[in-house]
Amino acid sequence: LEFADKLFRSALLSLAGNRAAEAFALKYGLRLGAHKFVAGETLTEALEKIQRLNDKGIAATLDHLGEGVTRISEADSFREEYSRLLIGIRESKADCNVSLKPTQMGLAIDPGRAYDNIKQIVKEARSMRNFVRIDMEDSAYTDDTINIVRRLHAEGYLNVGTVIQAYLFRTEKDIRRLSLEKVNLRLVKGAYKEPKTLAFARMEDVNANFREIIAARLRSGIYTGVATHDEAIIDWVKSFVKEQTTPYSSFEFQMLYGIRTQLQETLAKEGYRVRCYVPYGRMWYPYFVRRLAERPANVLFILKNMIKH
Ligand code: FAD
Repeated sequence: LEFADKLFRSALLSLAGNRAAEAFALKYGLRLGAHKFVAGETLTEALEKIQRLNDKGIAATLDHLGEGVTRISEADSFREEYSRLLIGIRESKADCNVSLKPTQMGLAIDPGRAYDNIKQIVKEARSMRNFVRIDMEDSAYTDDTINIVRRLHAEGYLNVGTVIQAYLFRTEKDIRRLSLEKVNLRLVKGAYKEPKTLAFARMEDVNANFREIIAARLRSGIYTGVATHDEAIIDWVKSFVKEQTTPYSSFEFQMLYGIRTQLQETLAKEGYRVRCYVPYGRMWYPYFVRRLAERPANVLFILKNMIKH
């Protein structure tokens, strides 16, 4: 079963980078079923959804979908979109920060420019007392992403943090260093296709490492987002913080828009901080495929939707 599962994941993750499949999907628009995971194509639609989450005591992080940018002008227009987005958040008084992808800001084509773009957004966010989360992409960008955040911190921008993935072997070391530097981190299992030389292939190893890094961060007292839908892990975190009397103000649970919505609401009602990751925009295809790869049942959901329409 594990073999079939891996094959499925790997086949779907290959589709994430496939231009023909993307063109096909975009033609069928959000109707394909992507609306389950994507809050809409416009900022207005996304802010409406965020208002509903906030009403339930759930904070948000807003992601304007886009990645793997191949022209610098494209990266610059994404940067401008983030400025608009920050203003939209301020004007609507939403409880919401922003998440962005480094390759969306040009990291794959011009690292210097990507740094400038990200810095500009972090600077604007700081003037609005907001926070920027730099998502973590595949292992080709781990070093650069961490270095961007460390450099910004060294320059006095503390309203920026990144993401650390439990599936990578290097993670324990990164956690140690970033915790010493008091960087706000989101911890995840990891969503990309990685070689065996760099990442745990077995889910149980990923889960064990995930628990270890969560424990290390919760003990450190530095603000941490535990981003997972895995109920076993969530229950374990709840008993860990109870045992260690970890203040609820030092961490938050994070989940993706459209996944385990009931659990998000329950945790918020129980008094935990909960943040929902809300993606919107026209470039939803690779994000959508990664969500499908996480769970075979999602593909069935999409197929049913295609038949209905
Ligand atoms: P899993 O063991 O995969 O899932 C546990 C259970 O959750 C499943 O049994 C299922 O019931 C439910 N579930 C999980 N995924 C889905 C789904 N797609 N649809 C429906 N149910 C599902 N990864 C990165 O590499 N970089 C990032 O920057 C990043 N940011 C993230 C931000 C947030 C807020 C979250 C929640 C995840 C992020 N991820 C990121 C993705 C993460 O790495 C995992 O791929 C994803 O969260 C699935 O793992 P899981 O922890 O939910 O556990």
